[in-house]
This record gives sequence, structure tokens and C-alpha cells, in this order.
Amino acid sequence: MGKIVQLDEHLSNKIAAGEVVERPASVVKELVENSIDANASRIEIEVEEGGLSLIRVLDNGDGIEADDCVLAFNRHATSKIKSEQDLIQIRTMGFRGEALPSISSVSQVELKSSTGDGPGTYLFIENGKIKKQQQTNSRKGTDLTVRNLFYNTPARLKHVKTIQTELGTITDLVNRLALANPDVSFRLKHNGKELLHTSGNGNLLQIIAAVYGIQTAKNMMPVSCTSLDYEVTGYIAKPEMNRASRQYISLFMNGRYIKNYALSKAIQNAYHTFLPIGRFPIAVLSVKMDPTIIDVNVHPSKHEARLSKETELVQLVENELRKVIKAQQLIPEVNFQKKEQRQKETDIQSSFSFEYSQKKQEKEPYRVPEPPAELETSNPSNSPVSIKETVQVNEMMDLFLDRKKNYTETVFEKKEDSTEKTESNQEKIPVLYPIGQMHGTYILAQNENGLYLIDQHAAQERIKYEYFRKKVGMVERELQLLTVPYTFEYTTHEAAFISDHLDFLRLVGLFLESFGQNTFIVREHPQWFPKGYEKETIMDIIQQVLDHKKIDIEKLREEAAIMMSCKGSIKANHHLSNDEIFALLETLRKSEDPYTCPHGRPITIHLSTYELEKMFKRVM
Ligand code: ADP
Ligand code: MG
Repeated sequence: MGKIVQLDEHLSNKIAAGEVVERPASVVKELVENSIDANASRIEIEVEEGGLSLIRVLDNGDGIEADDCVLAFNRHATSKIKSEQDLIQIRTMGFRGEALPSISSVSQVELKSSTGDGPGTYLFIENGKIKKQQQTNSRKGTDLTVRNLFYNTPARLKHVKTIQTELGTITDLVNRLALANPDVSFRLKHNGKELLHTSGNGNLLQIIAAVYGIQTAKNMMPVSCTSLDYEVTGYIAKPEMNRASRQYISLFMNGRYIKNYALSKAIQNAYHTFLPIGRFPIAVLSVKMDPTIIDVNVHPSKHEARLSKETELVQLVENELRKVIKAQQLIPEVNFQKKEQRQKETDIQSSFSFEYSQKKQEKEPYRVPEPPAELETSNPSNSPVSIKETVQVNEMMDLFLDRKKNYTETVFEKKEDSTEKTESNQEKIPVLYPIGQMHGTYILAQNENGLYLIDQHAAQERIKYEYFRKKVGMVERELQLLTVPYTFEYTTHEAAFISDHLDFLRLVGLFLESFGQNTFIVREHPQWFPKGYEKETIMDIIQQVLDHKKIDIEKLREEAAIMMSCKGSIKANHHLSNDEIFALLETLRKSEDPYTCPHGRPITIHLSTYELEKMFKRVM
């Protein structure tokens, strides 16, 4: 006698529900996606007790024909695909035909739906069985209520977190659905209280304001670019508007919220050196592509997708974002206005006249569960950098020597064409005239636009970083021969690893030779290695290689440059002469990214003449 039996439909649905209906938010997701697929322009979501006692989704979409209403609750019944061919070019959110049968197997469901012509259909379903079926009014659209979720699956119920956590997950989800669909009006209520309301007028910035607050929306920069296969649009935040978690990166592919490691990384890379370590950007990006390029049939909840031309997209996004970030004048403005006054001004901003509830604004959205472990790989610039306490200002000047040769010419030149230059918007930092130095730490400077405070240490690090980044990028053999060679000893394991990577180390200026067991000797090094820190630099680079194991030359060069820029930098409490200040400002002006130090801290703060006049009540 065989032991295998075919499971009945109800049991199969309950099993499928294990994947599709993980928690209340999954129900909201499936129902709202159905409304979007039905071309709804208005979707109202009502939730009670974190979704456990009630979830109701009401839409003004196409509605369901009377005959289809019953079918919709059958497993693998869908109106969205018909053939295998359709599966490789999916244009709808749903296609698996699993949601309604799964949901109705673990809850009590009431459905009211009408296509607008003729009467509508009412169904009551419990334990996966239709208990009541009758005609109802003909309001076009669908109204679906899910009660007592998981009432018949106690094990699943046990896994549901607190009401507050479940509500947080639902809010986060609806926020993202709203961001993904600016043309649809969303309203979310919990226990009768409105948490989100968007107008559906297509203005993404307004939705960003409703979700993340007006201040954030005002600090967003538009993004729009295309490649052969992709079209990317959306907004990214200015670097100073950063967050402590990756959760504020929202990526939509053909309207679907997708977690994609490579793309999320590309976005973070674009901000590299503009953000402090451990801080992340806010981004809302929508990618449109031919549906044949993207495979969303990877996971039942469709949170992941496979892209056939991922590298193309990654490069497009990283390059474009980098451009947008760099194009901004990134000196943060000091704003001394009182909070209420600022709020008042914000309120009258005509471009931001919302009908949204203001309650949630400026408050961080609810916490959502941690991203999967693979998303949590460490930041490459996270490596520890040793910072020497010594003050070596002359070295800093040495460093500029090759530029310093024509430094006087430069200043001269500047003077002649300075008016022209200040007018051009090309400039990252305007010409600044030194006033003096404060606490041996900050440089004060001015121009017609007001007062500038410059962190001299951060400025120097940025300049040195760019210098070393260039040098380490193409090591020439202009080497400094050492009178007394350095020797380095490592464990057997480490030495073996280093021996395997001697060629690689040469690419960053380390010329190691094996010298007996587990020992290496260095007889020469590039002349531009930080003076007085040559041996330490070599040891640090080797350590970086040992720490990482997986080696990427560009990453190593980047880290090496950051590490070198920290060596022997001018520290706080160091006096600079006016000439030195001028030299520093001029060199900073010429650097590629004069806004942040390589660790992402700001270099310059601007206090505008207008702000000053306001503070002194010279203007109102
Ligand atoms: P899928 O979305 O994968 O097709 P579902 O189980 O979510 O599967 O839904 C089954 C079918 O019910 C859908 O294909 C659609 O035809 C219909 N349906 C569900 N919800 C709605 C809705 N809000 N408006 C119109 N039709 C709907
Ligand atoms: Mg569906």
C-alpha cells in the first residue's frame, strides 16, 4: 500500500499561505497590489489592531465579474497571465493566483465587487469555504475585508509581533506603495486614525514630503537618466540629509518595490566620501524597463528580482547619482531661525501646499525589520585609520610643493579674473578672503556672500586624499631608495597570503621581496609616500589587504589614499600664517570635491550676509 496522498485544496492553500501570508502587512500588500492591477486611482486601507482583527482595502478599480468572484478564491486562478509566454513578460503586480485563496484559508473574508454594469457580488468565506453568496450594489470597484487573521493557525499567530510592530511594517509598506505609485491616491487608517493620505496627482515630491517630512523633501535632488535598456527617475537626498539605516533607500522596478543588493550598493557608492561612515542616503528611485529583462518570479512575495542586464543598470545609477551629487553646491547653510518661524515659512511655501496630514512629518517612519544579512556587509571605508597626534604643518606645505611652484601665479591669475569667476556657477567654492583663525582649528574667511568657517583639518585631509588618490592610482617607478631597508615579519598564514599578492601590492607602490621565512624586505618606496610615515604606511596597506582577503584594487587604492591622508595632518590648535591659510583655501578650491573630508564630515560652513543681518535685526 502506498503512503502518498494528494492533499486537498484547502490544505494546499494553507501551506501556500505560510509563504504568501507571513504577517498582516503581507495581506495588505497582496490586496493593494490587486487594486493597483485593477487600475484603481483611489485605494483606501483600514486596519485595526495592527491588522490582526481587521484589514479592509477599498478601491475604485475595474471590479470583478460575478462569475469570477468565486474563481478568484481558487488556487492558481488568475486573470493576469494565460500562457508561458506571458510569464516572461509580466506587466502586473500579481500573476501567481495565490493571494486570495491563501488569505481566505487563514482568515474570514468578505468581498464586495462590481464592474459597474449590473449588480455587484457579495461573498463571505471562512476556512477557505464560501459560506454566503448574494447580489449587492453596483458601486464600481472592490471592497475586501479580512477579519481575524491567523485565527485557525495558532502557530503563525504566535510569530506575530506586537500591534505596534505590525502596524509599523504596514505603514512602511503603504508608504512605499504610495512612493511607487504617485498617480494613485492612498489613504491609510489605523483604528480610525489617518496615518497617510496622498493626492494621487502624480507629484512624487509631495509624497516624499508626506512620508519623510517637508524638510527632507526640500533637500531632495531630482534624478532622471536613461540607457539602452533602462529609464531611471526619482529623487535622492543631499548628503547632509542622511540617515542611520539603509531602509531609506527605496527602489522600484516597473512599479514594484525590490530589494536589490547591487543597486543599493551603487547608490551608496555614489555618496562615497560625501557621507560619514555608518550614515546612509535617502533615495526614491523608479526604474522602468522592458518586462523581459526582469524576472520577478524568484520568491512568492516578489521582493527580489533577477535582472539580465544588472551591470548596465548599476553603472547607470552610480554614474548619474554621482553627477547629481557633485553638481550641487554642497556647503551647508547655517540657519538660526526659530523652529516655529521656520514651520510658518514652510507652511506658506506655495509649492508645498499639501492636503496631507502633518502629524507624521519630521518624525522618522516606523522601524521596519532588519534587512537580510547579506545587505549588511561592511562599508569598505570602515577600516580603522590610525591618526597621529603630531603636528606637522610643514609637511602639509611640502605636499603642495608641486602645486606651490606656481602658487603665486595662481593667486595672481585669480585676482585678475576673480569677478568673472565668482559669477560663474561652475565653481564649487567661491573665492574666499581669509580673516583669520579661531582656536587654531577653524579658518574664518569672507566674501560678498558672507562668512565662511572652514575646518582646517578636514580641508587638509580632503586635499591630501585627492593627491594620494591620484598618486596611488598610477604608481610610477620614481622611487626613493632606502639607506636602511625595512623588514616586516608575519605569521606563516599571513606571509603565504602576502607572497601570493606581491604583484598586486606593487600596484599600490609596495615593493616587497621575500626575505627568509615569513619575512619581507622593502628597499625602496614611491617618493610621495607620506613623509615620516613611510614604514607605517606600508604596514597599514599590508594590513588592509590581510583584513579584506578578497582583494579589489580600486577599493584598496581608495582605502590607502584615505589612510595616507590622515597621516601627519594638521591637528586642532595649530597656528597657520595668513599665507598658509591662503594656500590651503586656494588648494581646496581646486580640489574635485571640496565639501567633505574623506570620512564624510563637512569642511565648510557658510553664514550668509542675509542671515547675519537678520540676526542683528538690520533686516526683518
Ligand atoms: P493574482 O493577483 O496573482 O492574479 P490573486 O489571488 O491576488 O491572484 O487574485 C486573483 C484574481 O482576482 C486576480 O487575478 C483578479 O482577476 C481578481 N482580483 C483580485 N482582487 C481584485 C481587485 N481589487 N479588483 C479587481 N480584480 C481583483
Ligand atoms: Mg494578487
